[in-house]
Amino acid sequence: MGRPRAAVIGSGFGGLTLAVRLQAAGVATTLVEKRDRPGGRAYVFHDKGFAFDGGPTVITAPECLADVFRAAGREMEEYVELLPVMPFYRLHWEDGYRFDYSNDLEAVNAQIEAKSPRDVDGYARFRRYADDVFKEGYVKLANVPFLDFWSMIRVAPQLTRLQAFRSVYSMVARFIKDDHLRQVLSFHSLLVGGNPFASSSIYTLIHALERRWGVSFVRGGTGALVDAYVQLFRELGGELRLECPVERIRTTNGRVSGIDAADGWSEDFDLVASNADVVHTYSKLLRDEPLAARRAAGVARRRHSMSLFVIYFGARRQPGMAHHSVLFGPRYRELLSDIFDRGNLADDFSLYLHAPTVTDPTIAPDGYEAFYVLSPVPHLGKAEIDWSVEGPRYRDRILDYLHRRYLPVLSESPVTLRIFTPHDFRDVLNTHHGSAFSLEPILSQSAYFRVHNRDDRIGGLYFVGAGTHPGAGVPGVVNSAEATAGLILEDLGMARTRSVS
Ligand SMILES: Cc1cc2nc3c(=O)[nH]c(=O)nc-3n(C[C@H](O)[C@H](O)[C@H](O)COP(=O)(O)OP(=O)(O)OC[C@H]3O[C@@H](n4cnc5c(N)ncnc54)[C@H](O)[C@@H]3O)c2cc1C
Repeated sequence: MGRPRAAVIGSGFGGLTLAVRLQAAGVATTLVEKRDRPGGRAYVFHDKGFAFDGGPTVITAPECLADVFRAAGREMEEYVELLPVMPFYRLHWEDGYRFDYSNDLEAVNAQIEAKSPRDVDGYARFRRYADDVFKEGYVKLANVPFLDFWSMIRVAPQLTRLQAFRSVYSMVARFIKDDHLRQVLSFHSLLVGGNPFASSSIYTLIHALERRWGVSFVRGGTGALVDAYVQLFRELGGELRLECPVERIRTTNGRVSGIDAADGWSEDFDLVASNADVVHTYSKLLRDEPLAARRAAGVARRRHSMSLFVIYFGARRQPGMAHHSVLFGPRYRELLSDIFDRGNLADDFSLYLHAPTVTDPTIAPDGYEAFYVLSPVPHLGKAEIDWSVEGPRYRDRILDYLHRRYLPVLSESPVTLRIFTPHDFRDVLNTHHGSAFSLEPILSQSAYFRVHNRDDRIGGLYFVGAGTHPGAGVPGVVNSAEATAGLILEDLGMARTRSVS
């Protein structure tokens, strides 16, 4: 047999790092991307001297990023520089309360002591719990595929001991009594598309991961990390095809045999890994394959994470800002219910505000900031909002709010402005209902219950990225690539993967 040939559909962090791993291991790999630039949700917009990272900006778990370079015999430091971000987040409330969250234990404890002295001890216990979850859930399982029910049964005792059936919020509330502090310690699951009131408490591991490795920003922006992986992939001899939307994954006798693209390009492959949305893959790309039909309907019916409304705007720098700010509105649980359950576009909002020149001034022209602000909103399956009408209105409401409360610099109009709505998540990124993070990270959709890294029925079909194990977020999808690469190489008889023990 000649050298095996693989296609990876989609160049998000999951697809990109899988492509690097396969190419490095000797599989001739073609990475096929619909858009004109790689990165997926980490796409970069350039305008008037500003570089806007389209999506991920909070970089955690650098070890898993570095492992990809190591798999190719390189060092990450030769390609990119990670800059520490401090504080990790500045959290603001409308009542004027403010909290700087980081891994500076003394500074965090001092703020907890000032707000709610009895919670200092609770925070120590919460940290121990999060560390425990991190060891069980991240170190042992994040890069290990769950393919059969037994793999789930084997980890059931640990999940039960850690009370994974509880929500993030309910677990935080066990340790912490103060309302603001409960928000400080529970909002993290939103970073991977999960409602803190519904996501499994397993996602408290994000705390441990952040405290261990810190929060970083890539010099030049997250796009520089995308570029680094692309450069590495090309150095290894991999082929990247841009502006090449895949139309169909071809199958022969229940096994993938190749892909067809919209521009007429068509090629045979021994295996195909999809980094595209899982519903799009089963229902559109595999529409001719009878074995995919039931799966398509089943995956479409599952709970999908919320969407996002994002505004990218260049404006004067606002002195005294933190790099990452979370701006809580007046309601927490109720607002999240509007977004995740009721499908209301509420009058109030909670926002994340990105100000990257705090860490790296090269991102924007001198004296200016490449801001982005995002507001979690219901996905299109929950609320059929006409964003072509509502988008400009919602944009103006948010900018007005920012101006009144946080950004006096917005008395001058932004020099550049664009929005990305749930319609864009649906139409540009092909995501089901315009979801921003794929399947919601709840226990009944995690590990074995998530779309498997290797399809059980269609030979040669694999998944990588937010829809498969372990899930969304940059560390999640990069770990999914390790899990999927292990399976592929094992199936090709080129290496063995770890198994759940
Ligand atoms: C606004 C925003 C902010 C975020 N912030 C953070 C953060 O700070 N930290 C963090 O860790 N995570 C963050 N996340 C989550 C994180 O960005 C994602 O979970 C992760 O990047 C998704 O990667 P992925 O591998 O699943 O691929 P995606 O990024 O989803 O990429 C999939 C790719 O497939 C392509 N594609 C789809 N269909 C086809 C087709 N038919 N043919 C060819 N190509 C196709 C798409 O164009 C896309 O490029 C954020 C997400 C968003 C949206």
